[in-house]
Amino acid sequence: MLLRRPDLAPANDALARLTPLEILRLATESFGNRVAILSSMQRAGTILCHMADRAGLEVDVVFVDTGVLHPETLATRDRLAATHPHLRVRTLSPARTFLEQTRELGLLYLDKEGQERCCDLRKSDPLRAVRGDYDVLVGALRRDEGGRRSLVRSVELDEGLGLLRLHPLAYTSRADLDEYARTHDDVVMNPLHHLGFTTIGCFPCTTPVRPDEDERAGRWRHLADVAYCGINPTDVGSESDGVEVSDRFGAFARAAQALAASR
Ligand code: SF4
Repeated sequence: MLLRRPDLAPANDALARLTPLEILRLATESFGNRVAILSSMQRAGTILCHMADRAGLEVDVVFVDTGVLHPETLATRDRLAATHPHLRVRTLSPARTFLEQTRELGLLYLDKEGQERCCDLRKSDPLRAVRGDYDVLVGALRRDEGGRRSLVRSVELDEGLGLLRLHPLAYTSRADLDEYARTHDDVVMNPLHHLGFTTIGCFPCTTPVRPDEDERAGRWRHLADVAYCGINPTDVGSESDGVEVSDRFGAFARAAQALAASR
């Protein structure tokens, strides 16, 4: 079915009233095994994985290994795979190693133009491998992260991959995540979060942040006007005229509306 942004409004109104776990359940009930969580092994993502696994939801977890991630992040991925029996971690990699890329194109991440190309080559391009495999990619974006994330809606369109993006944590606060982590001591936590990294990406482009800084201040600190890599369409405000998505979206939207109305 062809969906345009305004078509998502009724579903988004309903989803805003549901819990993250209710949204995850509805997604797997409606789309079956064509749902995957996209995670870079930061706290919000591993909490989503924990929710899904402990509820017995069988989903893939897609992880893009850019080749320049901290060892702690790779270890987090491995620990999650070993302790979440209902999840299947699927790692995607760029076509070239970082060294091969640098030999051929130079050290791209040092300026904005190069960073955009590097992020496309090492993040967005590997993710294109999932095109056709899923109807829904579930992310961990939250409105209270601020910036463009303050605009994120529970369900969005991804024209590039031809699927739906689902954000069950859109209305979840940082304090909610703190509480979830406090009450579930088996959530797999990337140890970098204990070392001052509020968000985590590639090691050349990520630093810890001071307590008085914005949550995302440690990303591309060397590039004043860069805030996002572009792997999430919401972050770059990519508009589209319409996207062909699975017909199952109709059942998903109706189920969400029925559940929200039952409150
Ligand atoms: S975050 Fe930095 S190193 Fe990682 S893909 Fe983007 S520009 Fe390259």
